[in-house]
Amino acid sequence: MDERAFFSEKPETRQARYQCPKCRRTAEYGIRWVRRSKKDRLPAGADEDDRAKFAKVRDYLLRVDDEVVCKACGRKFEIPSQHSLMFLDQIGGLPNDEELEREISAASGEPGPAPEAKPALPARFTRKPGGWK
Ligand SMILES: [Zn+2]
Repeated sequence: MDERAFFSEKPETRQARYQCPKCRRTAEYGIRWVRRSKKDRLPAGADEDDRAKFAKVRDYLLRVDDEVVCKACGRKFEIPSQHSLMFLDQIGGLPNDEELEREISAASGEPGPAPEAKPALPARFTRKPGGWK
């Protein structure tokens, strides 16, 4: 079964800043992506292999645009290619992020095992003032 059967696709435009290699000017560009969201359920007709694959896949964005036209000089240049695919957990603003952060801060804000409380001074040290002599 083709991996695409596991996802529903939705086009998406994201803003990104790129520097034109010709005129060196930086501008914001609306870049087209396709968001592949994992379906809630395995598609009909899936076998065991598909089931295993389906368990592993996660949502991602695939870049559609390979080049942009420079807003300053009008020349085409290629988008740096290292980010043509992004998993959604690499991008901020996911619905789960907030939850995760709350968990992290709860975990780190926890005082942990309380430092041993100093036991109150036993009475024998306080009863006789000047007992050090
Ligand atoms: Zn340019």
